[in-house]
Amino acid sequence: MKGPVTSREIAIAVPATGTEEWEALREPLETGWLTQGPKVAEFERRFAERHQLRHAVATTSCTTALHLALTAMGIGPGDEVIVPAFTWVATANVVRFCGATPVFADVDARSYDIDPEDVRSKVTDRTRAAIPVHLFGRCAEIGAVRDVLPAGTLLLEDAACAAGAALYGTPAGGLGDAAAFSFHPRKSITTGEGGMLTTQDGELAARARTLRDHGASTSEEQRHRGPRPFLLPDFDETGFNYRMTDLQGAVGLVQLGKLNGFVAERDRWARWYGEQLSGLAWLQTPEVPEGHDHAWQAYVTVVDADAPVPRDALMARLQDAGIATRPGTHAVTELGAYREHAGSCPVAKRLQEQTMALPLHNRMTPEDYEYVVAELRRV
Ligand SMILES: *Cc1c(COP(=O)(O)O)cnc(C)c1O
Repeated sequence: MKGPVTSREIAIAVPATGTEEWEALREPLETGWLTQGPKVAEFERRFAERHQLRHAVATTSCTTALHLALTAMGIGPGDEVIVPAFTWVATANVVRFCGATPVFADVDARSYDIDPEDVRSKVTDRTRAAIPVHLFGRCAEIGAVRDVLPAGTLLLEDAACAAGAALYGTPAGGLGDAAAFSFHPRKSITTGEGGMLTTQDGELAARARTLRDHGASTSEEQRHRGPRPFLLPDFDETGFNYRMTDLQGAVGLVQLGKLNGFVAERDRWARWYGEQLSGLAWLQTPEVPEGHDHAWQAYVTVVDADAPVPRDALMARLQDAGIATRPGTHAVTELGAYREHAGSCPVAKRLQEQTMALPLHNRMTPEDYEYVVAELRRV
């Protein structure tokens, strides 16, 4: 006998793109300006405006935006950067890209946010920066992290999941010295791949713009539109090619216009999940404390160790019912590339084993949500 027959297939995340994104590609394709140009510039301007920031620098991904930010901040060999252990691996990798050393702090079991007390215990005289993560779209309590760090320690927000989020009225991106957002299809809004470095610091932004473009003294667009387009720019330092394409910029502009609507819809359903699932004593649903505008990049629950069905078996059962789930994220300290840190952050390790993200995205129907809840209640 096979299990119950179901035609429902609910993905963990589906990007919400449509005709407008498709049509936005026409102009760059027709003009032939495909690499970073006017669309990216407008996307940067509007993204900065939406998050009440002075500067936004578009990149190829959040990972490259983080790397660019650390490089522009001057982080290098001998420096230590404190990162949470429960996050996407890129948060730690970018520290290594700079030749610096990631130092892991454990997280809080309820908020999944970096634990300020553990941060305090990890500070040394080499600590130059910390990267609090707005995990799953909920802003990290950056003030509490700042309080335990020596004055002058740089704070870089990993805002990969946090487009549209805010903390006590301040949008993500304006909470630290710089921030990096992601436009991967699993995030709030998407450009396929893509990222954005933001900062209020004009000098940092200018350095990031140069480093993004091979270290060139002028951008390609400036050069082509300038009086002597035939002259090559000067290259004063060793940079990267982290430029976003104008095709992505055009799509990003359309997506940005939909951001508020996307977040409002996910917020409504996240709260509905919270009410509907509150009767399941074995399932911890995410909390939204006063002052947090959650962007709900993901809806991440914790399956108790003594739940009627253990997490992995539950995920398999839901998969059979056509419902995709995923662990929240990983404990970076438990990954092969960081094996020397294994076991050092027990809460992160436990969350890797017990968290379960439920489907929550802008392509789900009310019937989809009801179906997920009904299946969970059957456990
Ligand atoms: C997705 C994600 C990243 C990486 O973003 P990319 O744009 O894919 O490079 C980094 N940090 C966190 C917390 C993420 O969720």
